[in-house]
Amino acid sequence: SLQRQKPLVVANWKMNMSLEKALHFLNSVQSDPQDSTVVICPPYPLLYPVNIAMKKLQTGVQLGAQNVHWEDHGAHTGEVSVGMLQEVGCNFVLIGHSERRMAGESEEAIQHKVKQVLQSGMYPIVCVGENSEEFKQGLTSQIVKQQIEAALKNLPNISNIIIAYEPVWAIGTGQSATPYQAEGVHQTIRQSIHDLHGSIAHRIPILYGGSVHAENARSLAAYENIDGVLVGGASLEVKSFQSIIRSFN
Ligand code: PGA
Repeated sequence: SLQRQKPLVVANWKMNMSLEKALHFLNSVQSDPQDSTVVICPPYPLLYPVNIAMKKLQTGVQLGAQNVHWEDHGAHTGEVSVGMLQEVGCNFVLIGHSERRMAGESEEAIQHKVKQVLQSGMYPIVCVGENSEEFKQGLTSQIVKQQIEAALKNLPNISNIIIAYEPVWAIGTGQSATPYQAEGVHQTIRQSIHDLHGSIAHRIPILYGGSVHAENARSLAAYENIDGVLVGGASLEVKSFQSIIRSFN
């Protein structure tokens, strides 16, 4: 399993970048695996060429996918399996990102995916977070607890799990949660993992995501239960992403 002591900085490129831009990005990005674990999650078609470039350039960066299907093969047009992701060099998979939940991904699907990814030995990054309505109504704790329970119940061994707390109202809005707010929710999340699985909860990395940028990364990094970040918009330019990596060193 990953060490919580080592910060995790994850880029979620979403449906952005081109092969040319991605290769250019990799030429300039640098990470020292001693200091932090840096993961880039490109769109599916870029996984293989990005993996080849990462190895050749020795960037110290690891590869993740933005989604996966829970069955290992079969008649699932347009889907990609865990084995396929591993074959192109992925070690990490985002699961249950709010943009996918909004597009109809169910908690049952999320549960299947988490199980399948854990079985493969890859690291699932399970995304949870309340929307702005729920936030305004003070339901944040209740929502994240329920999402954590749904994703993590009935799992024999959660030691490879990573959680990302992403308040939906903070994603792509420029309006990040304050580090203090995030720390509070991370404590709630750790407590719910503890309720389900006991003391292993203290070893599970919990990332914050939602308008993380070069200017707020360092203050997020200072908090005890913020073990890293999941970065969308600011991960598309080397300059801002590199500065976020440095904030966690
Ligand atoms: P953002 O996206 O950094 O652009 O807010 C984060 C995410 O959705 O993972």
